[in-house]
Amino acid sequence: MKIKNKDIERYSRQIILPEVGGEGQKRLKSARVLLVGGGGLGSPAALYLAAAGVGTLVIVDNDAVDLSNLQRQILHFTQDMGKAKVLSAREKLISLNPGVKVLAKKTRFTSANADRLLAGCDLVLDGSDNFETRYAVNAACVAHKIPLVWGAVLRWEGQLMTVFSGKTACYQCLFPEPPDPALAQSCSNAGIMGSVAGTIGTMMATEALKVLLGKGESLSGRFWGMDFIKMRVRERGVVRRRNCPVCAEKPGALH
Ligand SMILES: [Zn+2]
Repeated sequence: MKIKNKDIERYSRQIILPEVGGEGQKRLKSARVLLVGGGGLGSPAALYLAAAGVGTLVIVDNDAVDLSNLQRQILHFTQDMGKAKVLSAREKLISLNPGVKVLAKKTRFTSANADRLLAGCDLVLDGSDNFETRYAVNAACVAHKIPLVWGAVLRWEGQLMTVFSGKTACYQCLFPEPPDPALAQSCSNAGIMGSVAGTIGTMMATEALKVLLGKGESLSGRFWGMDFIKMRVRERGVVRRRNCPVCAEKPGALH
């Protein structure tokens, strides 16, 4: 795969980075990344991945754009209200970078369609807004041995971790049980500051780019909890749980 002259100019500020170069740019161009959710986290993440020249973005989201989304979901504009988020997202991303292929999948990510959606993907970025989807994405990524970057936000807080499936702690090693649904809060009932979602989504894109380039130190085996109202970061190590129902090695199983 050859890089065109106009692409050298487009990506010049990152190609001059020693961690990218021409080889790294080709790696990004040949990469296929699946984004679960085209909302508060998926919007900034997808914009930066498209801008960086990641060749194929698969966006999975079942929702339509609502007025209350626009405070943080920066892929969607006022005139997009009522439109499928995946179609609104594709328009903006192609407009930003026509060299990127964007596949719009208007559906929910579930264990039933996971195999089909993940086929050929190099990395998954989970910006979904509920525990059921996060557990399903994590289990599917581990089964397919696809690296996963997940993030979550609520109010002024954000969380982030990267998973090298089968090698480092997975989402379910970190959170073995989903919270009691009665106690689980969502952005719709507890609130979210838009720029906090923007910050975490952007960090997810940076993690994804490093994994695709095979450079730097990722946030694998480490969990970051960030409190933006106090501007504090809490890091803790996360080890694989021997009894994790998702990623623990089963006796006699082939790996
Ligand atoms: Zn696990």
